[in-house]
Amino acid sequence: MARTLISGGTVVTATDTTAADVLIDGERVVAVGSDLGAQAEQVIDATGRLVMPGGIDVHTHMEMPFGGTFSSDDFATGTAAAAWGGTTTIVDFAVPEHGESLQTTAQRWHQKAGPKAHVDYGFHMIVREVNEQTLADMDALVDQGITSFKLFMAYPGVFMVDDASLFRAMSRSGENGALIMLHAENGGPIDVLIQRYLAEGRTDPVNHGLTRPASMEGEATHRAIALAELAGVAVYIVHLSSTDALNAVREARDNGVAALAETCPQYLFLSADDLARPGFEGAKYVCSPPLRPKPHQAELWNGLRSDDLQLVATDHCPFHFKQQKEMGLGNFAKIPNGLPGVEDRYTLLYDGGVRLGQVSLNRFVELVATAPAKLFGLYPRKGTIAPGSDADIVVFDPDTERVLSASTHHMNVDYSCYEGHHVHGVPEVVLQRGQVLVDHGKLLAQAGQGKFLARSRTTL
Ligand SMILES: [Zn+2]
Repeated sequence: MARTLISGGTVVTATDTTAADVLIDGERVVAVGSDLGAQAEQVIDATGRLVMPGGIDVHTHMEMPFGGTFSSDDFATGTAAAAWGGTTTIVDFAVPEHGESLQTTAQRWHQKAGPKAHVDYGFHMIVREVNEQTLADMDALVDQGITSFKLFMAYPGVFMVDDASLFRAMSRSGENGALIMLHAENGGPIDVLIQRYLAEGRTDPVNHGLTRPASMEGEATHRAIALAELAGVAVYIVHLSSTDALNAVREARDNGVAALAETCPQYLFLSADDLARPGFEGAKYVCSPPLRPKPHQAELWNGLRSDDLQLVATDHCPFHFKQQKEMGLGNFAKIPNGLPGVEDRYTLLYDGGVRLGQVSLNRFVELVATAPAKLFGLYPRKGTIAPGSDADIVVFDPDTERVLSASTHHMNVDYSCYEGHHVHGVPEVVLQRGQVLVDHGKLLAQAGQGKFLARSRTTL
């Protein structure tokens, strides 16, 4: 494979911002510096551009079963959209059928992703019940590079496990080196509220949010952390959406407890006002935890600056408005939960984070690439630009202005949560392991060229 030089740009990592060239040999970066040009056969001009690590989105749901349908992006369309958006690695959630062995689930996810993925990918495994078999499967999967497991404190009768099960899984993770990830909402009282609202005829999408109050996310987050502390392990809270939950994480971290958490673009840029849009429009914004009232946004940004929140992932789980979201017409509880986002995260965080002064450029790189790599066993292979790392690189034009829209995005979903949202910046050239995936809006990646990433255990 030819040597490639990315020349004349500003190389940005989580720690440094440097005018430098990047020399790639084969799949790896071999040098970052100056006067490297004579060694390259191919040159990518990055004058006036930011040269940053490829994004790592550790929370996606491609082709995920939910409520009798499937999320509308499969591994082909979803990973192509990721590439367009500057994300070169995803970690997707494998979902077992009831009673299915986790090993079988992993094989199914390998079969789904392998022939289709345009970018590199790993898996987390969802655990629906904790017993001797699933605990043994966890041990085996950790050895196979599936080193994180998600359990639910919400969705009783579907995914929810009780506190004893959570504690057993956490205790096992202390032995096998896995990281336990939690959907932290107290599903019991939430279900009671849902039934009460429906009985009262309150069926519009806005009620999805009203029946899932932030206090129940705060309570579950606090309980999750207390259980993890009892088990003597770290715990990772997915899609943290509220001040209530953030306060539980902050308090724990201030006391030296290994509580970790992600938030998502929708909690930073959208709010309960969107869920309350007239008619059935709010269904486009139904996800769990729900979008919160606007004052939560500023607190989440505080959390990202202070490292009480370590990273931003998307929880990408798209459903078409027509026919899929519409399954919940007349009953908000039947609206499939989830939003599209894998394509927009990188630019949204740059535009709304860096350009508007919420986070530094280096912190941006940390939030979208470096911290995800470190927490999920991919660093330093992924998540930075340094000799020896995979050449997963975004040549980012920070100045181009564009409008996000379903008419121009590449995700397989018939609406955009950010329709009409004006942003600065575009991933202009996107490389993975030295190969150009996207060049000025043209997809060059092939389905199946993404590789499975066997991840290491998390080391904090
Ligand atoms: Zn999710």
